[in-house]
Amino acid sequence: MTRMTTLFAILCRKALSCLVVGFISVSSLNVHAADYTGPLFDAHLHYNTEAWNGKTGPHPVPDVLARMQRSGVKAIVSNSRPNDGTIALALARAETAAAGVAVVPFVRLYRNRADYNSWFRDETIFDMVLAELARGTPVGPYRGIGEFHLYDNANANGAVAKKLMVLAEEKQLVVLAHVDDAAIDLLMANTPTQGQKLRLIWAHTGIGGTPIKRVEELMAKYPGLVGELSYRPGLTCDAGSLCPEWRALMLKYPERFLIGSDTWINQRWQSYEDTMRGYRVWLGDLPPAVAKKIAWDNGAALFGIN
Ligand SMILES: [Zn+2]
Repeated sequence: MTRMTTLFAILCRKALSCLVVGFISVSSLNVHAADYTGPLFDAHLHYNTEAWNGKTGPHPVPDVLARMQRSGVKAIVSNSRPNDGTIALALARAETAAAGVAVVPFVRLYRNRADYNSWFRDETIFDMVLAELARGTPVGPYRGIGEFHLYDNANANGAVAKKLMVLAEEKQLVVLAHVDDAAIDLLMANTPTQGQKLRLIWAHTGIGGTPIKRVEELMAKYPGLVGELSYRPGLTCDAGSLCPEWRALMLKYPERFLIGSDTWINQRWQSYEDTMRGYRVWLGDLPPAVAKKIAWDNGAALFGIN
């Protein structure tokens, strides 16, 4: 707003009449009708052992479900280190039904923290994924794999990473990947269709600040690429409103974005409702139909939730 106002002030030195035009233009950028109030699909949720290890912990199942309910979250992509956390949520069928929350289970690739740095070449991880897929969950089959991280994008070509991308495309499992833009290309290239059929949720849509033009280019290149927006630098501007270039990209690709909590540490559980409230603010900057797609419809369509 400040930069725009300065720009118009400079332009208007030469013609007084443009002051009025400038004022109208700047104001229209900041229209915020109302916060989005509809349902939310949390497409990036962890229920890790620190939150609740099945016995004790600060955030047992009733606690996390109450947070979702108070936030208007009606469905979650759940994954956890180890996978027991997701199983615990899936087992609590009466509680999740009472809270109105649908659980979409993903197989996480991490049994422990050490696995973050070696999963892409560790055959025992591949075996673990196959065993989990065969076992399934109390709410049905796993629907995806991840979240996984690649701190060095070259590891997208690790033997196990390659096999998992082929498996995901063949079994129609959705991938949840915390990677950079170069790794998106590498992961996609490792599927039988060069990524044309892989459905990949890009956790944070470039947490390192991938330029928006590059995000747009990847969206155009891969029809199954969907951007999840937690922690995305540059997404919001003044008072939590949506930055104009992101708004433009969402209007161009309304079906390709999701929101998520990323409860990777317990503090994220403690601020869960604030996180969701923050989404509701910038979703309110979009046309209502687009806001609802990003908040709910896109996740619901991806996993066939009503
Ligand atoms: Zn995460």
